[in-house]
Amino acid sequence: KQARLPWIKTLEQFDFSFQPSIDHKIVRELAGLGFVERGENVVLLGPPGVGKTHLAVALAVKAAEAGHRVLFMTLDRLVGTLMRARQENRLDRQLQQLTYPKVLVLDEMGYLPMTREEASLFFRLINRRYERASTILTSNKSFMDWGEIFGDQVIATAILDRLLHHSTTLNIKGESYRLKDKRRAGLVT
Ligand code: ADP
Ligand code: MG
Repeated sequence: KQARLPWIKTLEQFDFSFQPSIDHKIVRELAGLGFVERGENVVLLGPPGVGKTHLAVALAVKAAEAGHRVLFMTLDRLVGTLMRARQENRLDRQLQQLTYPKVLVLDEMGYLPMTREEASLFFRLINRRYERASTILTSNKSFMDWGEIFGDQVIATAILDRLLHHSTTLNIKGESYRLKDKRRAGLVT
């Protein structure tokens, strides 16, 4: 089955010694793909450069290798896709299509705030996928700040409720891997 991923990153390429806040055991457990079989979610939180997208893609690669249908989208693109589908009166079909992938990676939630309408479309997708298929979400914002992202605390709570009911959260605290070599060269402090 073809994996729809923008690039390939693997767990083997990930240097866990660089990011000690990540519990290696939890990642190994996720790599066993029980979460995919059970339709559970994974939430990767942390500042830029700590490996959220890398790990999300690596888990999706594992799932694709095991024969699952996977799809990667930035949250920004997902919202654009849903808004366009609504305008063109094919929202239901679009939501259905986005329910098929057994693993949906939604990257970079929180960089751009959503309007209430966008947040409610996102909620509809999360609700459709709830207990059916896995969503792997990355965000630079902690759960406390989700009300701000969705512009509405009630929708944020409803989204969190579905998303976190069966889920694993990795809260990555550490340095940006992107800046590691620059820092070593004394280019940033
Ligand atoms: P984030 O999504 O958290 O902003 P990325 O996953 O995009 O960060 O990581 C930034 C870059 O650094 C990517 O090229 C990624 O492959 C690499 N990277 C990040 N953390 C590690 C790590 N611990 N080991 C190896 N490569 C890493
Ligand atoms: Mg990223």
